[in-house]
Amino acid sequence: MAFKAEVSRLLDIVVHSLYSEKEIFLRELISNASDACDKLRYRALTEPELTGDDPDFRIKISVDPKARTLTVEDNGIGMDREELIENLGTIAQSGTASFIKSMEAAQKGDVTQIGQFGVGFYAAFMVAQMVEVSSRKAGAQDAWSWHSDGKGAFSVEEDPRTERGTAITLYLKQGEDSFLQETKLREIIKHYSDHIALPIFFGEGEEPVNRASALWLRAKSEINPDQYKEFYHHVAHAFEEPAMTLHWKAEGKIDYTALLFVPGMKPYDLFDPKRRHGVKLYVKRVFITDEAEGLIPPYLRFLRGVIDSEDLPLNVSREMLQHNPVLAKIRQGVTHRVLSDLVKHSTKDPDAYAAFWENFGAVIKEGVYEDTENREPLLKLLRCASTRGEGVTSLADYVSRMKDEQKDIYYMNGDDRDALSRSPHLEGYKARGIEVLLLTDSVDDFWPGAVGAYEGKTFVSVTRAGQDLDKVAPLDKKDKEKKTEKASKDEIGALIAAMKLALGDKVKDVRTTDRLTDSPVCLAAAEGDIDIHLERFLKQHNQIRTPSARILEINPTHPLVRKMAAQAKGEGGKAQLDDIAWLLFDQARLLDGEPLSDPAGFSRKLADVLTKAI
Ligand code: ADP
Ligand code: MG
Repeated sequence: MAFKAEVSRLLDIVVHSLYSEKEIFLRELISNASDACDKLRYRALTEPELTGDDPDFRIKISVDPKARTLTVEDNGIGMDREELIENLGTIAQSGTASFIKSMEAAQKGDVTQIGQFGVGFYAAFMVAQMVEVSSRKAGAQDAWSWHSDGKGAFSVEEDPRTERGTAITLYLKQGEDSFLQETKLREIIKHYSDHIALPIFFGEGEEPVNRASALWLRAKSEINPDQYKEFYHHVAHAFEEPAMTLHWKAEGKIDYTALLFVPGMKPYDLFDPKRRHGVKLYVKRVFITDEAEGLIPPYLRFLRGVIDSEDLPLNVSREMLQHNPVLAKIRQGVTHRVLSDLVKHSTKDPDAYAAFWENFGAVIKEGVYEDTENREPLLKLLRCASTRGEGVTSLADYVSRMKDEQKDIYYMNGDDRDALSRSPHLEGYKARGIEVLLLTDSVDDFWPGAVGAYEGKTFVSVTRAGQDLDKVAPLDKKDKEKKTEKASKDEIGALIAAMKLALGDKVKDVRTTDRLTDSPVCLAAAEGDIDIHLERFLKQHNQIRTPSARILEINPTHPLVRKMAAQAKGEGGKAQLDDIAWLLFDQARLLDGEPLSDPAGFSRKLADVLTKAI
């Protein structure tokens, strides 16, 4: 049978990888063997006959120096014919394409990441010219074997295997003989798999090579940082240093042990709804599932690790977990603990916290929006870019810098920080030294409205109409002088009337504003209307068809507006006012990232006005 095309490409990359840490293939195979035992142990809770006369799970590693083979064997759940075909060749896991992309992007890609993408098995082809998988599924009458040289095809045939489980035999490539040496193999197993909770035996040895006890149940003082790290690599299929390690035992109303990690890197599928490898749920040391919905709130989905409960019944089915009160209590406790540790971390090591925020801030903001119960710590964790400069600021720091006369927390939504910081909406704020938060994640369109206020200070979007900035004095005296050179009330009144007439129902209103210093006009959302950026987002997602009309705010100190106002009030020569009103309106739309309503009309008007200007 042929490999799925994507799998072939993946294998091509793995086979030709020049990566030196090839030994990670063993970690991947042991990890699969351990998963297979976990799966059967769980099934056997309800079908004890499946483990029958062989109830002690174990992994065995052996070598045959003459045949130059290395075998990893387990007595786990095993695979039947279909599963061998699907799991090892034809169904490309969702991570396959992502793995290929990441390897191609980084020129000398790092194969050690392979497990994270759910394709760790193929790492065997780094060192093997041929791989044979012989397996008997628990409870099945027949056994099957799979082999391949990793070059585009594999074959499956009946196998004489009598024991339950899977044996994976690697026929080593030339030059990979070191993987036949017992001392080296023992070292690798100790290094990568010491924390595997099953005994791993070497050859006919009777003493396990690893400690074979659940790491999370050991006392913290007995675990060194390296052991934590290796365990993290195992549960998270990760390869980097974890950003945070949280290990605690909860005792009281409910008892559980949690060993959780905040990854040091942003996983490739953080926003993929089908994302796998969540926090693993154990009940009294028996693995239950790594897909327990409701164990961790969605906005903490970057967490990796293990939660081992003493209170859930061992025979709890995955379905029963869905609305389980014990699970809900665990979630509460875990959420509380993780958030308070993150808050501590954010004050103790702001630089490290900034890196965390860079990776997972957008996800935490989902919590700011939806988890009203934990809003207080979540708002402490929140960081935002602002007009103050590089980097991000906390809300507390923002508030401490607020002007005396300033009542509200100002923010602006957009797609891109640079474009935002040049927006005319901000001119008046900048001129007065008022800081504005610049928000560019999609969730930013939602949380300020949902949260409402922080320490009594309301979140206000600068794209809202009718903001009174007059209370705060401009920083620069010149601005003040410029302001005094305003068009007269009469003139402005005439101009506003003329512009309203020209633009009709394209605008809700035309008003003067003091939020502008350098630009003649901008558009603002009326009280009660949706914010401009959110409306665009909803339009893109077909949530709304007809956008609401905006308020056109005009800057009475701008020379163009002053000239227009004089013309509007004066006798004759009003011919161009209509065209200019339209051009200004379209320009304001462009600045907000909106398309022109009528590009041909815009060009014609522009050409007309320019012609007369020369
Ligand atoms: P992952 O372990 O992340 O799912 P792998 O590429 O390591 O990805 O393994 C692919 C799949 O092959 C596993 O999900 C499992 O279904 C199956 N598999 C691999 N090794 C074994 C084994 N020793 N016993 C049973 N199934 C296995
Ligand atoms: Mg695996």
